Amino acid sequence: MRIVVTGGAGFVGSNVCDYLLEKGHSVVCIDNLLTGTKENIAHLVDNEKFTYIEHNVSEHIVVEGEVDAVMHLASPASPKDYTKHAIPTLKVGSLGTLNALGLAKVKRAKFLLTSTSEVYGDPDRKHHPQKESYYGNVNPVGPRGMYDEAKRFAEALTMAYYSDEKIDTRIARLFNTYGPRMRLDDGRVLPTFMSQALNGEGLTVFGDGKQTRSFCYISDMVEGLYKLLMSDEHEPVNLGNPSEITVLQLAEEVIELTSSKSGIIFKPLPQDDPKVRRPDISKARNVLDWNPKVDRQEGLAKTMEYFTRKIQSQTA
Ligand code: NAD
Ligand code: UDP
Repeated sequence: MRIVVTGGAGFVGSNVCDYLLEKGHSVVCIDNLLTGTKENIAHLVDNEKFTYIEHNVSEHIVVEGEVDAVMHLASPASPKDYTKHAIPTLKVGSLGTLNALGLAKVKRAKFLLTSTSEVYGDPDRKHHPQKESYYGNVNPVGPRGMYDEAKRFAEALTMAYYSDEKIDTRIARLFNTYGPRMRLDDGRVLPTFMSQALNGEGLTVFGDGKQTRSFCYISDMVEGLYKLLMSDEHEPVNLGNPSEITVLQLAEEVIELTSSKSGIIFKPLPQDDPKVRRPDISKARNVLDWNPKVDRQEGLAKTMEYFTRKIQSQTA
């Protein structure tokens, strides 16, 4: 297949590009480098099955030749990034998704949207873990509104193209994912804790640290996205690792793993920060025969190796 990956120079996108090429597909990566880097795809530029187009997908997208699938990942994804780039985030979720769906329509290609657990907002405890049937608890005008509502709109648009334009669409709802190629300074909890621990600085835990998250290693996520693309499932599917921990436990695990002397510094909890988050992945298990394989101990160790190398190359 010839597959377009928007956001292909980002953390998840560049890992998706690698995986698709390994499977023998051709990849057209489109990115405007808003939050991604060319370094993430530097190893692919000499691959004849890989093409890179620098372009903002919130503007009309042109791709020459046949396209079999469009995987639309372009969007800032970390709270620090999407609050800094509020309007580009709203544009890429709306106009960018419209253009990516338009490309799928003109090429008669499959389409996959990477949506997010943020569509559930700050979930109420009756809906924990979160199933796809939960409508969510989102503040449209709060500090996460630009991201959450952009993705909710993108899901609605994708469903409309499925029902009205007969585009062969998929919607993945990704839960917190981590691993190599995250930016050290993207503000997400894991790169922040790892760089703080490796630099001997205090780990900044927001609130009392009792809020929970469930972390999925990147190789599992990429496999899940691929299985979804190759499936016939048109309704949203949660992808994530259901192993849930508090942020404070995560800080302690990172300190232990890095043998760091760092302590913990408590900072105020940001407004609308979800108190709990854990995916119910029964649907992905049943429909895709997918199950995450990499546990946190293994995933954190691999990620630490990557960040250690990054920090060493920055200080060299
Ligand atoms: P990222 O910031 O590393 O990657 C996003 C990429 O999209 C970047 O390379 C960026 O430059 C590009 N981009 C942004 N706006 C663009 C535009 N207008 N035109 C072209 N390219 C543009 O983030 P990520 O973690 O790799 O996330 C990828 C996707 O997965 C996003 O859609 C995100 O919402 C979704 N997601 C990720 C997670 C996670 O934990 N990583 C969780 C839920 C959902
Ligand atoms: N967090 C934290 N310290 C940090 C960064 C994040 O305690 O330096 C917390 C944040 O408040 C949230 C969790 O870690 O409860 C996950 O945050 P992240 O930004 O990674 O993503 P989110 O899941 O909130 O989108």
